[in-house]
Amino acid sequence: MIDAHNHTLFSEDCEATLESMIESAISKGIKHYTITDHLDLDYQDKRYKFDLNHRERKEAIHAAQEKYKDKIEIYYGLECGVQPHIIEEVEKIILNEGFDFVIASMHTTHKKDLYNQDFYQGLSPLEAYRAYIKEFTICLDTMSHYSVVGHLDIVKRYHTDLHQVSLEDVEEEIKDLLRVVIKKGKGIEINTSGYKDAFNHAFPHPQILSWYQELGGHLITLGSDAHFPERIAQFYPQALESLESLGFKKIAVFKSMIPFFIDIEDVKNALNLT
Ligand SMILES: [Zn+2]
Ligand SMILES: [Zn+2]
Repeated sequence: MIDAHNHTLFSEDCEATLESMIESAISKGIKHYTITDHLDLDYQDKRYKFDLNHRERKEAIHAAQEKYKDKIEIYYGLECGVQPHIIEEVEKIILNEGFDFVIASMHTTHKKDLYNQDFYQGLSPLEAYRAYIKEFTICLDTMSHYSVVGHLDIVKRYHTDLHQVSLEDVEEEIKDLLRVVIKKGKGIEINTSGYKDAFNHAFPHPQILSWYQELGGHLITLGSDAHFPERIAQFYPQALESLESLGFKKIAVFKSMIPFFIDIEDVKNALNLT
């Protein structure tokens, strides 16, 4: 069992202690557990500061790796918010820290926050969707040191009008993004937090995953984006079924930025789904 996207109180928007998250992961039978606290440099809603004390966090995670080593494999990861003007600064940090795994996520577009809806003002739903994907593509192309693309189509979470946008209308933009990801040898994360919204799917939508495969992509990771202990590995049965119906057979786990692979069949067995 794996969960490659998890937050702890080192993240600005999470109150759960490292220990409470790890112990919940162990109780759920997780063997490969990646902690990916937020680093969002120059986050645009200045009420929040998605900064990290890397030294303190690294020490805490290393201590936990040692303490729980007989029960669970813990990885030192990061969810890195990307914006074109901070890529250079963030890459220096990533190189310096020696993470196991880096998720590149976009939480702000046009220097405006998605979460508080500033970004959507004055844009039609289609314009907003396209602008988000285009800026994300630029970031993913410029950046070198990341493992996967985080919650690729999260832009529609924060403004319900974007639910009306047909994927065919953004197909070219999304395919350009996917081509960049494949060209750079990066992957796509399957983020099961999508199921807790009005969507009946993980991020990204299965249609996007099917385009990813058509274009030659195969590298995926699986994570719940848990900010609470009880949310770890949530919605896995649905997500695994969807991945299998698309023809995926393996899920990657990253250690020292290098992937190794676990059969989806084995994850299902661990969940007693077979
Ligand atoms: Zn995120
Ligand atoms: Zn997250």
